[in-house]
Amino acid sequence: MRKNHLLLDLVNAMSSEEIRIVDLTFTLSPDFPTILLPPELGQVAPVRIEEISHYDARGPGHYWNNLSFGEHVGTHFDAPIHWYTGKDLPANSVDTMPLKDMIAPACVIDCSEQAEQDPDFLLTVPIVEAWEAQHGRIPERNWVFLRSGWAKKDFRAYANLRDDGAHTPGPNAEVMKWLVEHRGIVGFGTETIGTDAGQAGHLVPPYPAHHYLHGAGRYGLQCLCNLDQLPATGAVIIASPLKIRNGSGSPLRVLALISN
Ligand code: MN
Repeated sequence: MRKNHLLLDLVNAMSSEEIRIVDLTFTLSPDFPTILLPPELGQVAPVRIEEISHYDARGPGHYWNNLSFGEHVGTHFDAPIHWYTGKDLPANSVDTMPLKDMIAPACVIDCSEQAEQDPDFLLTVPIVEAWEAQHGRIPERNWVFLRSGWAKKDFRAYANLRDDGAHTPGPNAEVMKWLVEHRGIVGFGTETIGTDAGQAGHLVPPYPAHHYLHGAGRYGLQCLCNLDQLPATGAVIIASPLKIRNGSGSPLRVLALISN
């Protein structure tokens, strides 16, 4: 009986806006920037939207589209199977991962000023420790979101490609290992095109967010927006990827529940 009340209380709180829902998702569209790898490697395909009919001769009564896209486009989820470090873990793909991992609280670390000064800004352990001194220790099974302000940039500045690759903020190797091993985070989320910094291929190990998160069966979220609307702690994130067979990730709708 009491359990029913819990769920009803939640729904009532959402309709009275005692709990607010914030959309952390970019609109999925063909012009949204995708990650570019060195040309000798395979590339993720951007979104294609092909109209089937639009109340016309192809279908007088209805409008619909055919879609195609890579698993890692737009606001999207990374599963452990995405990286070699997580390839042999159980339940490591989007179709097999535990459902309870799709709903978890978030800690939001605001580094937008540092990222504005330096597009190659790296999150470090001392920065997170300073955040904890203010907001308390990051609890286990929380998301950590790096707020960089990147989602507010136009697409060109968002990708920030130069001759030597992308220049976008992210975590350093030490902080990723520490967040996974000493804080037990459920995952790490960013506003940028990847969970790792644009130049993270030069870090040791390369792409440390991917390396440590997925090696420990944890997840990534990227291309998040509206992180400036979240409190430092206390938001609950709903992130449930498409159920793609053996899928390594997927675009998805990411919602945050915030208590007003
Ligand atoms: Mn990805």
